[in-house]
Amino acid sequence: MTKRGGLWPRKLIDGKEIAATIRAEIKEEVAGLVSAGTTPGLAVVLVGENPASKAYVGGKIRACNETGITSILRSLPDDVSEDDLLDVVDDLNADNDVHGILVQLPLPGHIDEALVIERIRPDKDVDGFHPVNVGRMMVGIDGFLPCTPAGIPELILRSGLTLSGKHAVIIGRSNIVGKPLMNILIQKGERGNCTVTCCHSGTADLGAITRQADILIAAIGVAGFVTADMVKPGAIVIDVGINRVDDPGAKRGYRLVGDVDFEAVSAIAGAITPVPGGVGPMTIAMLMKNTVRAARIAS
Ligand code: NDP
Repeated sequence: MTKRGGLWPRKLIDGKEIAATIRAEIKEEVAGLVSAGTTPGLAVVLVGENPASKAYVGGKIRACNETGITSILRSLPDDVSEDDLLDVVDDLNADNDVHGILVQLPLPGHIDEALVIERIRPDKDVDGFHPVNVGRMMVGIDGFLPCTPAGIPELILRSGLTLSGKHAVIIGRSNIVGKPLMNILIQKGERGNCTVTCCHSGTADLGAITRQADILIAAIGVAGFVTADMVKPGAIVIDVGINRVDDPGAKRGYRLVGDVDFEAVSAIAGAITPVPGGVGPMTIAMLMKNTVRAARIAS
């Protein structure tokens, strides 16, 4: 990337467009599988009425419809017992038309999430959260990668950028984003081969570390946390955050923003993802990819 007029040129990484391309590829693959006798099926289990969870589930079902994957929605009440939820998972595990199972998180407090995730058959665990798949990811053998982190190298590569040899700094160490992303980016191959640093709330002098990043990934959950002074000019900035901020002018009274101060950081970043329209659509596209892969393995 070259400097222009003293400023790094801004390059928007268009997750919406890249995800649409991936969905189109998946649609073709699904058509091939259907004509060979297998229709990929994804079961989504939704517990309760959490509006954000309902919106995410809706997006996943729409993507299934678009790509030709059969979707099965199991909606359960907020007060469903842990045993009843495990029974639903067992039914889906035994159903040959279901190739992928996703239990939308978070679950209500009275349910042990880890127990539910471990109940899903690893070969149907298209969210990639089962310890068997987490272990496979860590040692770098085939398994299902968790969708949000798996979408990040995909976004970077499909934007014509590279990862190999770069210093990737992740802010956030959750089990669903930060930790798996560390493992993905450190593997050999074009989707990784990065030098990886993972920061969290215990990190001392965070800015001194983030300023060393060639690729900076923010997965914190705090609106506008990453400011321009934390970013090296020319860096690739990936914003995983989805935060609601009040906006009386918006139809719903709020709007979605990321963890990065987009306005200021985009002026110096070499490339940057917007929110919405960056990492979010890729998460769903990778879920479709995992489901088709599960169906292919089962067929
Ligand atoms: P978590 O709350 O589980 O993790 C947040 C991480 O940020 C923690 O590791 C925490 O550190 C770290 N953190 C918090 N404050 C600071 C600080 N001041 N300095 C440094 N690190 C800090 O969140 P998730 O990983 O689940 O999600 C992160 C964001 O990504 C959210 O906005 C979420 O909505 C979004 N998201 C988006 C997805 C998508 O598809 N686009 C999918 C999943 C999540 P510590 O561990 O020390 O507490």
